[in-house]
Amino acid sequence: MNYQKILEEIRQETEYLSKEGAQATYIPELGNVNPDKFGICLTTLKGKEYCLGDSDERFSIQSISKVLSLAMALGKIGKKVWERVGVEPSGNAFNSIFLLEMEKGRPRNPLINAGALVVSDIILSEFPNAEESYLSFVRELCGGAEVSYNEAIASSEQSTGYLNAAIANMLKYHGNINNKVEDVLHFYFRQCSLMMSCRELCGAFSHFANHAEPFDVGGIQLTTSQIKRMNAVMLTCGFYDEAGEFSYKVGLPGKSGVGGGIAAICPNQYSVAVWSPRLNPKGNSVVGMKALELLTDKTGVSIF
Ligand code: GLN
Repeated sequence: MNYQKILEEIRQETEYLSKEGAQATYIPELGNVNPDKFGICLTTLKGKEYCLGDSDERFSIQSISKVLSLAMALGKIGKKVWERVGVEPSGNAFNSIFLLEMEKGRPRNPLINAGALVVSDIILSEFPNAEESYLSFVRELCGGAEVSYNEAIASSEQSTGYLNAAIANMLKYHGNINNKVEDVLHFYFRQCSLMMSCRELCGAFSHFANHAEPFDVGGIQLTTSQIKRMNAVMLTCGFYDEAGEFSYKVGLPGKSGVGGGIAAICPNQYSVAVWSPRLNPKGNSVVGMKALELLTDKTGVSIF
């Protein structure tokens, strides 16, 4: 498969969408990113990398971090995670509070904000130095020793994060947060602020693409069965109320973030990451969604 040629075609064929949508500004610091950035990288499980554009520039991965956090929590406490958070798509916006009230503080899944706040609480309880442990886990996962939190983005989000604070307080009210609400929020915003490049995201997600070997990274171990389940959650919940659309058009498990990134995997074949900051109204990258749709159409390979 000539992946490099396919990536070049994708770049040309998404050009017409390059001014569509708008970058996230509800986190003020994200509004300072150049919205015209475009990067894409595909890494095969045989270790070949195909990259194009701004694929080595780090950006704020935002909700893509929810997958990495889930892996860490699952590796530590296993299926006890599912006693506190479900695996059903929410069909709602990533920051919706509505179902959480109806369902008495049990988030639908770990890839919406409510679920990720519970996962953050688990990690805080299980790791004495959670922020450092998380960072070293992610560094090991992607092979990028310089990956780090972006303090300006984290504090920018903290200063406007009223809805996440409301969600965290709702969880606490229902007994689904054990640590202090402010500590959970602080840790959550830092995870979202992580700066990674498309190439580094590919490195991290290649561990989820590989079903042949158990996952053993930085002291976190996951069985192939757990990886299978994580991928199922990505497929059904990774794009919030657009998960059906992504599944229909792309057909790969993946996860988006409001920084404009999307990471996805083709089981046993490759991981892919794309970055373009302009978002559609659901908070997913316009060009990113199209790029991955073209990728599975052109290669003729998806999970379906
Ligand atoms: N930090 C963002 C928030 O909580 C993450 C949202 C996202 O990337 N979808 O609003």
